[in-house]
Amino acid sequence: MRFATKNGILFPRKEDSLPISKISNLLQPPLNPHYSFSSKLQELLTGKQLLLDDLPFSLIDIQEHYENGYVTYRKGIIYNGKRPTCTRCGNNDPYWFATMPCARCGEQCLYCRHCIMMGRINECTPLIGWNGPTPHSENLSKLDWKGNLSKGQQEASDRVVAAIQQNKELLVWAVCGAGKTEILFKGIEAALVDQNRVCIATPRTDVVLELTPRLKTVFPQITVASLYGGSEDRHHYAPLTIATTHQLLRFYDAFDTLILDEVDAFPYTVEESLQHAVVQARKPTSAMIYLTATPNEKWQRECRQGKRAFTTIPARFHRYPLPVPRFEWCGNWQKNLQKGKLPPPILRWINERLAVGKQALIFFPHIPFMEKALSHLRQLDQTIEAVHAEDPDRKAKVQKMRSKEIPLLLTTTILERGVTFPNIDVAVIGAEDDIFTESALVQIAGRAGRSIDYPDGVVTFFHYGKTESMIKARKQIVSMNMEGVKRGLIDV
Ligand SMILES: [Zn+2]
Ligand SMILES: [Zn+2]
Repeated sequence: MRFATKNGILFPRKEDSLPISKISNLLQPPLNPHYSFSSKLQELLTGKQLLLDDLPFSLIDIQEHYENGYVTYRKGIIYNGKRPTCTRCGNNDPYWFATMPCARCGEQCLYCRHCIMMGRINECTPLIGWNGPTPHSENLSKLDWKGNLSKGQQEASDRVVAAIQQNKELLVWAVCGAGKTEILFKGIEAALVDQNRVCIATPRTDVVLELTPRLKTVFPQITVASLYGGSEDRHHYAPLTIATTHQLLRFYDAFDTLILDEVDAFPYTVEESLQHAVVQARKPTSAMIYLTATPNEKWQRECRQGKRAFTTIPARFHRYPLPVPRFEWCGNWQKNLQKGKLPPPILRWINERLAVGKQALIFFPHIPFMEKALSHLRQLDQTIEAVHAEDPDRKAKVQKMRSKEIPLLLTTTILERGVTFPNIDVAVIGAEDDIFTESALVQIAGRAGRSIDYPDGVVTFFHYGKTESMIKARKQIVSMNMEGVKRGLIDV
């Protein structure tokens, strides 16, 4: 869009005007307390940064709110010298920009390709936000939960409450199966009682879908917005929002408390735009809670050096130690598979489980090897299955595994986290592959022994040469178990 300026205030014009990114010295019009603003627009825009196309309002309405100080216009793209940066996603890599003949500004117009799936940001695009009062939120934020926390959970829960009340950052390092959702309840309640806006963000849509009904149940009196690609809740103002990290790109200066689950999970770790989105979605004074079972090396070091506030839950709620992985050398398994065979130690491991009917998850580094192993293993049992990320039957196969229709499920790292089967053993074939990082291996080992009825399980890493990641993963598990014993969270 093109704007003319008068005393630093923008007016949409065709003539004597410029695309918004080319205008310097923008001023925000002062708030006119006598203006009767639209409460629908207030609901939609509070804590957001949206495009005109996202809003069911005309430019005339929006402009009137802007002139009265209730709406803000920020540049969609800003220039640092000649170098553009996308304000929404933080992209400043020239590769991710392109130009197009633009109907809105009538010029050859630069746009960001990086966040285009959320609607295109051009250099003539104003990002629209809210500057008026926040909507009145429901004052009925009592927690409705009768469950009990374990001793380890209770200690972490107290730390979370304190961090939220003091607007601090805190990392909660909780082993797989520790029960990390429950430790958030008290902290969320404390924030809501203070009329603060809370968001739980996670890299994975599956987690949003799993958390939403749980939080709606324990906070039955408030609106809970659930945001992921294709969800319906986009236009609600909610005291509690559960969202994928991608959806945070639409938020700006929104949350008093931001809880980021699985900080170590893809794609959050590799996409800087998502980290940018988290920073923008927080208010300048806000609490930040990170949750993970497997912090990366840098964060682990910061914890050890006292540079990062953290708390651990080293034991599962059922008070049994985590299964410690065993390493078993299996020779050149790739060569074996190419000949259509499996190395004898692996075959023995599998046969033992098939003989007694113990279910197992078997991880492979790459799909082609998994497919080769599958056709070989089907000679032993026709019902053995394999899954990977693009598999259209992925959900159905996981369900079949759960209902015990499948004796063995072969998988890529897609099932390294988020799935729980009550009584399984776990094997990794080719644990030396680069894809099996320390955190991937800790997560994989964390699939075993989760249920109170079957608290142990065998975890075996078959390898053709031990790696640093394997050793560190085992060390992390052993030291968590030791800490659990020392703090009286594990029965020995
Ligand atoms: Zn344009
Ligand atoms: Zn962008």
